[in-house]
Amino acid sequence: MKIALIAHDRKKDMMIRLVSAYRPILAKHELFATGTTGKKIQEATNLPVHRFKSGPLGGDQQIGAMISEDRLDLVIFLRDPLAAQPHEPDVTALIRLSDVYEIPLATNIGTAEVLLRGLDAGFLDFRTIVHELDERPLSL
Ligand code: PGA
Repeated sequence: MKIALIAHDRKKDMMIRLVSAYRPILAKHELFATGTTGKKIQEATNLPVHRFKSGPLGGDQQIGAMISEDRLDLVIFLRDPLAAQPHEPDVTALIRLSDVYEIPLATNIGTAEVLLRGLDAGFLDFRTIVHELDERPLSL
């Protein structure tokens, strides 16, 4: 699975705690991140991370492009709901594209943990699940 990790500044420590706690699971997957988030994750965990530009400089859009090209499977985006971001339109666009392409997206630590535990339980193929739901008849 290809997993994107993004954290706004006041959420970066929490992202590092999350990645450290779930390191054995995340180590089995390919990780992508915005610039500063990726740098901090690499420094703290030594995991390989493909780093894009910093979020305010286009990193969120680069991750959005990956989603639109069907090259990402899961996004953990610890956004800060209490601080205005200069790149708010990019943040909104990334969340929107995750919904357009039905990519599992966690925007807080609770959902992030549920998704990572789902990965660990071998509940890997979110796409098949979405596809099966699409095909399911509306009535019994
Ligand atoms: P950063 O970007 O990882 O480069 O800080 C995250 C963001 O603000 O979207």
